[in-house]
Amino acid sequence: MREASGSAFEGIFRLITALSGWWLALASRRQACGRRGRAWAEISLPNLRHNTEALRRALPGGCRLMAVVKANAYGHGDVAICRCLSRVGVDAFAVATVDEGVRLRKSGVRGEILVLGYTPVSRAGELSWYRLTQAVVDAEHARELDGSGKRLRVHIKVNTGMNRLGEDWGHVAEIASVFSLRRLRVTGIFTHLCVSDRLGGVETALTERQIGAFRSLLDGLRKEGIPIPLTHLQSSYGVLNYPGLPCDLARVGIALYGVLSTSEGAVRQSVALRPVLELKSRVVLVRSVRPGEGVGYGREFTVREDMRVAVVSIGYGDGLPRSLSLGKGRMLIRGRFAPVVGRICMDQLAVDVTGISDVRRGDMVTLIGTDGGERISAEEVAAASGTITNELLSRLGGRLERVFLDSSLTTRL
Ligand SMILES: *Cc1c(COP(=O)(O)O)cnc(C)c1O
Repeated sequence: MREASGSAFEGIFRLITALSGWWLALASRRQACGRRGRAWAEISLPNLRHNTEALRRALPGGCRLMAVVKANAYGHGDVAICRCLSRVGVDAFAVATVDEGVRLRKSGVRGEILVLGYTPVSRAGELSWYRLTQAVVDAEHARELDGSGKRLRVHIKVNTGMNRLGEDWGHVAEIASVFSLRRLRVTGIFTHLCVSDRLGGVETALTERQIGAFRSLLDGLRKEGIPIPLTHLQSSYGVLNYPGLPCDLARVGIALYGVLSTSEGAVRQSVALRPVLELKSRVVLVRSVRPGEGVGYGREFTVREDMRVAVVSIGYGDGLPRSLSLGKGRMLIRGRFAPVVGRICMDQLAVDVTGISDVRRGDMVTLIGTDGGERISAEEVAAASGTITNELLSRLGGRLERVFLDSSLTTRL
């Protein structure tokens, strides 16, 4: 367990962290303007701010936005994202793990930080010291945390049909008993909708049942004389497809980053979102390949006609799915589409630039984003690799630089 080492020391530490963050932001901005950089994610803080405001307008009165910033803010860089969100008044965050929460606190993030995932009682000291709010995954978990001897803030997670975490909604007495545990302060109660992204008859009925189950539990608790703490049940699709649900918080992740999980399917309430992330890399070499020659590992791709191939300095080691190999993926160079040829490697890949004149070493390659009049969306890349944007973005690796546009928004907390 970690202990305090004096508030003066902590103050100085925070100041140094803030100053170095400022320097780094400035340095990376310079780098973005220059022509260096192997592979990087450009993060538009103005777009993040736009999405925050658009989503807030979509919430009913009295419902606050809880920004879900787990998995390094879906690959966007959690500390900078939280600092920017704090500046526009967001005061509630959700992470998946204690370590993510501790990291944010050490970077000076204030407000409520809810740990959504299971935390063993052995880490209760950190929950308390860093003032993190823990999701209680069932009544037994609550009793274990209470037994730690630490005073903890918790939100009770309720299972209404997803069957992942949460005490079953029908166990009213069990849930009520959590409120009487001496050292736990129950500040919230929540559930998670599992098919709110789809609007078919079956899915809508299931979601309505989940909502009804949650309400019935709250009624049960009221009957026991328990004052109801903060309630929340919507994530991004919950907000878009079930707007107007009366609750205190909405846990929004993917929509905050300006994309939906897939581009398929309609949503009931359309919110004008702007993608926050662009993914870029560089051409490091251009070569001619003769017919009959292969490109890349396994020689699974053979050139039929003379081809100009550009080697790009990004690979699956950066989080780019290897399943985009062999023509499944494409990228933009000089405003034109270039398909992937051969197998994507750990650190590099090759694209066909035969039809694009004048491609040279150092040219910028856009994997997600716009170049000239063309655009490749995160939804397109996710679909081409057989997944959803949530996975694609959250797997973008630590090796990628994060370049924050409008870094002035990150410099002050
Ligand atoms: C990840 C997560 C969210 C955010 O989901 P999005 O679909 O990205 O908005 C909300 N609630 C819980 C419990 C989660 O695990």
